[in-house]
Amino acid sequence: MYNSILVPIDISETDLTHQVIPFVQAHAVMNTAKVHFLTVIPSLPYYSTLGLAYSVEMPKIKEIQQAALEKLDELAKEFKLPPEKVQTHAVTGSPKDQILKLADSINADLIIIASHRPDISTYLLGSNAAAVVRHAKCPVLVVR
Ligand code: ADP
Repeated sequence: MYNSILVPIDISETDLTHQVIPFVQAHAVMNTAKVHFLTVIPSLPYYSTLGLAYSVEMPKIKEIQQAALEKLDELAKEFKLPPEKVQTHAVTGSPKDQILKLADSINADLIIIASHRPDISTYLLGSNAAAVVRHAKCPVLVVR
């Protein structure tokens, strides 16, 4: 049914991740779909506006990216999908922009996203989830 499912993950919110597991499993039925997990490390705009040398910060960013990918790999295992059907991605930037960008490049036919952090109950949709629902070119399943 689906060929390419994108699951954006905020690695600092493991409760949210657990919330989406059964939905990802249900949509990856028969394991025909490739499931892409993405975590976005927000970039550090203050550093760049202050003109702090990226050459100094770069190694740190690479280290952070590597650590984020390791954490994401760990979380991805909890979905119990066949390893050959799973791909993990860690990039820097704005979460909503990067989610939409990867959706395009992997030709996603479904995005599965949690609606918002559980403790932020004033908004039905967090800002990233809202932007993804609004701008994605494919169906979006919002888990709440
Ligand atoms: P909130 O503002 O309550 O955190 P968000 O819209 O940011 O709500 O988060 C909802 C969902 O958006 C998360 O469950 C996750 O799927 C996705 N998301 C948010 N931040 C990131 C991030 N840094 N990397 C990947 N996905 C993210």
